[in-house]
Amino acid sequence: MTSFTYHRPSSVREALAALADPGSRPIGGGTDLLPRIDDGLVQLSRVVDVRDLPGASGVELRADRSARIGAGARLADIAAHDGLRAAFPVLTEAADAVGSPALRHMGTLGGNLGQRMRCWYFRRGVACFKNGGSSCAAYAGEHEYHGIIPGGTCHAVHPSDPAVALEVLDARVEVTRADGTSRLLSVSELYAGAASDPTGEMTIAAGELITAVELPPGAAGGAQHWEKVMQRGAWDFALVSCAAVRRTDGAVRMSLGGVGLGPWRIALSVEEDVASGGLDEDSIDALAERAMYDAEPLARNGYKVDIARAVLRRAMRALGVQE
Ligand SMILES: Cc1cc2nc3c(=O)[nH]c(=O)nc-3n(C[C@H](O)[C@H](O)[C@H](O)COP(=O)(O)OP(=O)(O)OC[C@H]3O[C@@H](n4cnc5c(N)ncnc54)[C@H](O)[C@@H]3O)c2cc1C
Repeated sequence: MTSFTYHRPSSVREALAALADPGSRPIGGGTDLLPRIDDGLVQLSRVVDVRDLPGASGVELRADRSARIGAGARLADIAAHDGLRAAFPVLTEAADAVGSPALRHMGTLGGNLGQRMRCWYFRRGVACFKNGGSSCAAYAGEHEYHGIIPGGTCHAVHPSDPAVALEVLDARVEVTRADGTSRLLSVSELYAGAASDPTGEMTIAAGELITAVELPPGAAGGAQHWEKVMQRGAWDFALVSCAAVRRTDGAVRMSLGGVGLGPWRIALSVEEDVASGGLDEDSIDALAERAMYDAEPLARNGYKVDIARAVLRRAMRALGVQE
């Protein structure tokens, strides 16, 4: 491991000043960043601990049922938060599905969104697209756990469970720029460049920081559903996960994890047909089929398409859209 220094700033301004150095990166629980440094996948001169910045770990629930979660909030605290569980159970269940208790106690929301893919070629330093090469070793190699949604060169999947739930909640990720100003990104905007960017999955520049996640009130009080299918019963990444909400205005959002380089929201026309309700079992089957129409599995992961259809069928039933 190359040596690096540890910096614990006491304000966002101080953190941003430290992150202006190109050799610096933010660190939350370090459960993803430190192993990557250890494995030589990233070389840094300094890590900047962003867990204890003012407001970084807080959860604020507002009277209108919107919420703000600091990027330094630990996943275990999100999973156990009574107010969040009452309003946004899809998120607390997704946070509770992450890894193991130890990982949830160390891992932060910002770090969970920022973690890199678990592709074994990438993690072993193979010169794939995401390690500075030009092709995807998984494409013609071992890709049982890789993506089924066509994107760019890389066929890895993003491992974040909370990101899938945040997408159906219409969450906005607050990114603070080096000059202290901030912008809000939807989850799909956050990962919009994941397939084409060889250096990372998030569309945030070096020196920028995720400072919080904003949850609008639209889904609070509506039907919400979370499911994660894993190869083993616990401490595993999703083969396929599904988050779904039926908002209080009747609109439906459904998204899948484990299928692409970010959460994959199903087609708007399918969501609208689900929202119209009155569905019998044949319609539910047909909508699940239509939702996966664009899937392009690789030679050995076609089983994920079947799982995706199954979790979507269960999600539709859970949202109460049957006749
Ligand atoms: C064995 C294992 C199993 C796991 N299983 C799952 C799982 O099933 N589901 C799941 O969702 N996750 C899973 N994880 C991920 C884990 O639980 C953590 O959520 C994740 O590793 C990152 O959290 P962290 O705070 O430790 O991030 P760190 O390691 O501190 O950071 C990760 C990345 O995010 C960047 N970053 C950190 N904070 C910020 C910020 N505020 N703004 C911008 N960038 C930032 C860092 O620079 C780094 O690149 C697993 C991890 C392991 C090791």
